[in-house]
Amino acid sequence: MLRRLLAAAALLGAAPFAMADCEFTVEVGDGLQYSVTEMTAEKSCGTVKVTITHTGTLPAQGMGHNWVLSAASDVDSIAMDGISAGFDNNYLPPGDERILASTKLVGGGESATVEFSVADLAGDLMFFCSFPGHTALMKGTFKLV
Ligand code: ZN
Repeated sequence: MLRRLLAAAALLGAAPFAMADCEFTVEVGDGLQYSVTEMTAEKSCGTVKVTITHTGTLPAQGMGHNWVLSAASDVDSIAMDGISAGFDNNYLPPGDERILASTKLVGGGESATVEFSVADLAGDLMFFCSFPGHTALMKGTFKLV
């Protein structure tokens, strides 16, 4: 994706920091790390599409990852509530309005996609993994420009 973004930026003659897009692929593996720590989407996208791809080999039960978007101030409480929601709920409280977008948990070789409207999103947003014990390391900022 980075190559594509750089190519797009070059085509547009855009400044290097203006790396915004409407579609993202985020890679995860058998460690507690996303391939990106910051994502910038354009509000003019209307709808943003995020695909999480697990390039590792471990199953979702042991090393599952998801991609969850919320207000930065809600990350810790959602993750806490997600633990009691359990694996069958992707470690997320079902129907929780604090969750702005989320994928299911993926294990090695799996991927999942979520599409969501960014029209009404504002404030400091973060993406994170709600698998128990992952959230402290697996999170990043989601910016709208
Ligand atoms: Zn994770």
